[in-house]
Amino acid sequence: MTIVQSLVGLLLVLTPTLLVWQHVGMTRVLEISPRHPYGVTVTDDRNENGKSVASLVPASDALTMHCDLRAGYAWPFCKLQFHLGQGGKGMDFSQFDSITFDMRYSGESGRKIRLHMTNFEPEFSTVSDWNSQRYNSVEFDAPAQTTYTIPVNVLRTADWWITAHDVPLEKTYSRLDNVTAIEISTGSVPPGQAITIEVRSIQFRGKWISNTRLLTWLVGAWIGCGLLGLSLSLLHVRSSLSATNARLELLAAVNKALELEARDLANQAHTDPLTGALNRQGLREVLMKRLHVGGHVDQEMAVVFMDLDHFKRINDQYGHDAGDEVLRRFATAIRDAVRASDKLVRWGGEEFLLLCPETDVPQAVSMLEKLRAALASQDWPHGLRVTSSFGVTSLKPEEDIGAAIKRADGALYLAKANGRDRVEIA
Ligand code: GH3
Ligand code: MG
Ligand code: MG
Repeated sequence: MTIVQSLVGLLLVLTPTLLVWQHVGMTRVLEISPRHPYGVTVTDDRNENGKSVASLVPASDALTMHCDLRAGYAWPFCKLQFHLGQGGKGMDFSQFDSITFDMRYSGESGRKIRLHMTNFEPEFSTVSDWNSQRYNSVEFDAPAQTTYTIPVNVLRTADWWITAHDVPLEKTYSRLDNVTAIEISTGSVPPGQAITIEVRSIQFRGKWISNTRLLTWLVGAWIGCGLLGLSLSLLHVRSSLSATNARLELLAAVNKALELEARDLANQAHTDPLTGALNRQGLREVLMKRLHVGGHVDQEMAVVFMDLDHFKRINDQYGHDAGDEVLRRFATAIRDAVRASDKLVRWGGEEFLLLCPETDVPQAVSMLEKLRAALASQDWPHGLRVTSSFGVTSLKPEEDIGAAIKRADGALYLAKANGRDRVEIA
């Protein structure tokens, strides 16, 4: 973005600067004078069977042509020629706008000067025939003052040249892109007089860069800058879109990970890590879901209190790790034996609570007898024989859970007292 901004800034400064500079400056000057005479010669109409005689007097400050203009040729003339090129190779004057003369004219009757600029064009011109070059001409009254300026666009292709070369209309415009010579000639004035033309300087002025070309360049630069800005901002939008997408995907992944972690934490909060049974907090939540606002169970439910028999001996004999493994297998065996809706809670140590909804005491007892059989046939570490005692009671609708647990605990005590590995009912 900053590239385009600096380009726009540069163009904002350059555009008016160049336009003003083009208008007031950027001037190119080509001077013809004794200092830059090029190849200067004089010619008269004697080659055309005329009688006029021209002579050249060069000096340090002026090139002077003396002309004895005499009747003879139909259009008698003397002319001063400045040769700018050779063999059809000339100079490009098409970018010049004006011509400033420092020139003095003296004659007896009529004051006319003719300016010719011969342009070599291969389509019409041959090197051997001087007059085959396009004659860009203008004739004007020599002003009384010595310095004056004429615009270049007053030059016209001479009619005789158009006729002689059968030039199609669209090519009759004046052309100055390959000028081989500039001629200052006497004009259409009466013969029989002496004429002197003294050239101090002829200055062609133009612009290094034309207004049209400069405007074209500037418009091109602005359009280029606009296109660059447009494509850069498109690229920017695309990359920021993909960055946003990547960020969204990352956020979604983080969110999912956090969700899983939160679920794990919630599970840990109400689960006993060793056995996977609910802890007391878990029991509280289960009861909250099942209880009426008043704190009572909505249906009859069996409440079982259980305690492993002589568990301390296992720890003492085989170590705490073996005890842990027994607790794990005990919890698994119970979960395998009961329904999914029955909830196993680790009450503490090797004491567990089992809540069996929609279960009456006889159903619970038969289930516990099956469980006792399952424990008896189960594989235990070190080939141990592990048993448990059970106290069962029924939690009636409208009854307080705490009272039921206390009752079940009482029944368990009874089971222990009656010899262990048995079920007692409260
Ligand atoms: P009873 O038949 O009368 O229930 O005898 P018992 O030895 O099982 O009873 P007691 O309550 O005296 O012993 C329970 C032992 O359980 C005491 C304690 O060291 C052990 N214990 C409690 N929690 C854990 C546990 O998480 N892991 C292990 N390995 N042992 C535990
Ligand atoms: Mg015990
Ligand atoms: Mg105990």
